[in-house]
Amino acid sequence: GRGKGAVTLVSRIQLRGLTRRFGAVTAVDDVWLDIADGEFLVLLGPSGCGKSTLLRMIAGLLPPTEGTLHLGDTDITHQPPQRRDLAMVFQSYALYPHLSVARNIGFPLRARKLPRAQIRAKVAAVAETLDLTALLDRKPRELSGGQRQRVALGRALVRDPGAFLMDEPLSNLDAKLRAGTRAEIAELHRRLGATMVYVTHDQVEAMTMATRIALLDQGRLEQLGTPAEVYDRPASVFAATFLGSPAMNVLDATVLTVDGTLSARAEDIDLPLGIDATMPDRPVRLGVRPEHLTIAPPGEPGIRAVVTGVENLGSEEVAQCRSGTARVAVRGTRPLGVRTGEALTLTARPEHLHLFDVGSGRRLT
Ligand code: ATP
Repeated sequence: GRGKGAVTLVSRIQLRGLTRRFGAVTAVDDVWLDIADGEFLVLLGPSGCGKSTLLRMIAGLLPPTEGTLHLGDTDITHQPPQRRDLAMVFQSYALYPHLSVARNIGFPLRARKLPRAQIRAKVAAVAETLDLTALLDRKPRELSGGQRQRVALGRALVRDPGAFLMDEPLSNLDAKLRAGTRAEIAELHRRLGATMVYVTHDQVEAMTMATRIALLDQGRLEQLGTPAEVYDRPASVFAATFLGSPAMNVLDATVLTVDGTLSARAEDIDLPLGIDATMPDRPVRLGVRPEHLTIAPPGEPGIRAVVTGVENLGSEEVAQCRSGTARVAVRGTRPLGVRTGEALTLTARPEHLHLFDVGSGRRLT
């Protein structure tokens, strides 16, 4: 973080049972979360899951219906935004069109009535950090989307805030610029060591930038973990199918004990699970990622399937298959060597199989 030792606690943000209702809609539902100093926390989830509402409560732009918010040891639930030491970067950037880049960046310092020389030095340093030095005299309309985005970031940076709050800051950029700016923001985070809370519905942004992901569904915190934890051990069918492309295959199956090993059986599935939980005859939802399936000849034990189509992704291919009434995708290095209409068996290593409860969708193992 920005300091060492005891200072670490100062910018820790704690959400304690944060809830926000709009009439009958519960946008954010009892969220408990500790955001550590220096962490890059991504609030991830589908449209309407409550990400922006949660971020706006942290920023102080929206009061919670229930729960409290602490910054270090201070209860900031009722503090106005300007007293929170947090800088918000919006997707619309909200730059002043009539002001130059330099004056846009320096705006928060002028509002604080800092001496001119100090403002100029600080703006120059921030411009240097963000590679904006050559653009300081331009107006926002003379900038590209990515440059505007950096100016908005600069205006946040110049305040030296305890944390940066970002609401889909890349959503107005085209795909190529997004990838570049994504890497820039991640690099900036490493360099500054600042706390960042970043809202997105884009799983690639979450996977590549986050130190931890808070996955939200219908206002609830569905899973909290590093990108690897959420990807490798999804807590629910929702988490399993939200991250990954194509999404994780999820099939209805029954767990059977056969010769002391466990198998998942359905009409078209016969897979050794290699787990030691005892769930005889238990119906489950069996999850397996497309990249963890391998193609075996028909007749082998596994998931019996028929290829319904093959998609060329360049370096990889995805075979769309049908197993009974279920659809199963297989992803691998091109060429996969299968043709539409072909019958095959799909196998996976036991450590790549996920079992979920049929009713709740929660992970079982
Ligand atoms: P998106 O990615 O589409 O922006 P989100 O995850 O950020 O979605 P929110 O904007 O936080 O979701 O909205 C969560 C829920 O709260 C939605 O059902 C939304 O319709 C509702 N909501 C948000 N703001 C208001 C408001 N001011 N008045 C009424 N309902 C609201």
